[in-house]
Amino acid sequence: MRFEDQRQLLVSELRSDGITDEAVLKAFGSVAREHYVLPEYQIYAYRNKPLPILDKQTISQPLMIALMLQHLELMADDIVLEIGTGSGYEAALLASITKEVCTIERIESLSLSAQRVLREDGFRNIYFRIGDGTSGWQKAYPPYKEFSRIIVSAGADMIPEKLTAQLAEGGIMVIPVGPGTTQSLLKITRQNGELLYSEHGACAFVPLIRTDT
Ligand code: SAH
Repeated sequence: MRFEDQRQLLVSELRSDGITDEAVLKAFGSVAREHYVLPEYQIYAYRNKPLPILDKQTISQPLMIALMLQHLELMADDIVLEIGTGSGYEAALLASITKEVCTIERIESLSLSAQRVLREDGFRNIYFRIGDGTSGWQKAYPPYKEFSRIIVSAGADMIPEKLTAQLAEGGIMVIPVGPGTTQSLLKITRQNGELLYSEHGACAFVPLIRTDT
């Protein structure tokens, strides 16, 4: 079956699994996941499964990404901060829906490979930083101090304070938090200056590695 047809089947699967945000479904229907996986895994690109990428990291399961993006309640004028660029696939989805995406990856080779694919796929509204994302968007262009949406796509043992500090008023952040190999998906919103927290089920992400102190 052609990738295009497999992609539309994945969208139907996400719909029957409870994804109702039309902007999210449309993004999944347009981004070529086969470009973001390793060549040997391209035939599996549209299985609803995580897949290995370089440096022992993974491209997340489509349903997990879709749930996170749905929790983010993305709007066309959002400026999004993503921690864990990885393959670049989630950045592509985010950039298809919102105005700009700033994404941070600690592994240089992964960031450079994501930058190349995203450029080839025509994305011009994504900015990259290589480093520890737990300290947020610092010393990078554009010089944003806060974001309307923040997504962390690696499992954190605690919520990085420098990240919540960059969540704008009325903003939404999603982050998997937990002590071990499984986490709980947290949604954090900032309302009237205060942070509100809600929990949205179990998940399993590769660890968020903190190097900045
Ligand atoms: N969103 C990615 C998923 C990547 S997996 C995709 O669509 O493919 C999580 C990524 O987070 C890994 O690439 C890992 O290297 C990165 N990561 C882990 N800790 C990090 C940190 N402190 N700062 C930035 N990136 C980090």
